[in-house]
Amino acid sequence: MQNPSHVDELFQNLQNGDRGALARGITLIESSRSEDSAIASELLNLAFRNRKDSIRIGITGVPGVGKSTFIDALGIHLINLGKRVAVLAVDPTSELSGGSILGDKTRMDLLSRHENAFIRPSASGMHLGGVALTTQKNVILLEAAGYDVILIETVGVGQSETEVSQLVDFFMLMLLPGGGDELQGIKRGVMEMANGILVNKSDLMPDEAHKTCSEYKTALHIMLPLIEGWLPNVLPVSATTRAGIEECWTSIESFKELRLANDQFELNRKQQYEHWLKSATMNELLKEVGNRFELDGELRKALEQIESQGLSPFSAQKTVLQKILSQLPK
Ligand code: GDP
Repeated sequence: MQNPSHVDELFQNLQNGDRGALARGITLIESSRSEDSAIASELLNLAFRNRKDSIRIGITGVPGVGKSTFIDALGIHLINLGKRVAVLAVDPTSELSGGSILGDKTRMDLLSRHENAFIRPSASGMHLGGVALTTQKNVILLEAAGYDVILIETVGVGQSETEVSQLVDFFMLMLLPGGGDELQGIKRGVMEMANGILVNKSDLMPDEAHKTCSEYKTALHIMLPLIEGWLPNVLPVSATTRAGIEECWTSIESFKELRLANDQFELNRKQQYEHWLKSATMNELLKEVGNRFELDGELRKALEQIESQGLSPFSAQKTVLQKILSQLPK
């Protein structure tokens, strides 16, 4: 177990750009050991007080669309502009596979070898809520460590896009040339969350890519704008030839300028902190309830009732809830 003076030292090293210290800090934060909890809180408080200016960017799209290749290319472009770049993954599929979309670091070959980059795969074996919570904490640590750009990658599975859109300043959707939303596996509502759309692999099908861009531009025109004064850019890009990378970054920078100019940048983050606070509270509450009221035992009993008394799962659930509520102090 680490004592408080170790936390100060760890934090100092982390702030001084020591990637080993940053990795240790993240491990501490992800630890489920109760003896690490107070130290992890202390570290997060230090980091939160000392976080530096950054932009948090989310990127979503179906597996194979080219997210990792694009992040590799964009990351190197940003490093060449003098920035430090961090990549995190929110991957609910790792719960099932035990693996991670970023488990294989060679997918971001150039970036993973660069000293001004830091790549962290999604913690495996965690449910989406747990991954999202860990990611929120990691963002804070990365900002204290001076990363200017934080890229958060997620697969277009389950609720992960919604969670990631609550974590970032700019949310980007990546598509392939051709095919409608349904064909591309993009769920309803994801387009509405996007601040920018990229049509990747335009090197393979340039005409098709331009056509797809026009279609999405038209679709965006008839939608209510998510953000006043901002029409999401729809750009054809190629992660492999790097075409469109510069335009993509310029567009993200213009967005940040607009948001800063009308005071929406900080306001959006404040609203997100409210969401983080709520989700962290709910997460802990569930854990506490589970521990204190032997939720598992109660659920097992209810399951027996479903079988023996012919209760529906919904009325059995009411019985469990009643039992828990009756044990709370008035
Ligand atoms: P992810 O699952 O969304 O992260 O997709 P990857 O980045 O792993 O890319 C999937 C495959 O598409 C890989 O074989 C890449 O080399 C390839 N790929 C990615 N971007 C492009 C691109 O712009 N053009 C071409 N031709 N291939 C690409």
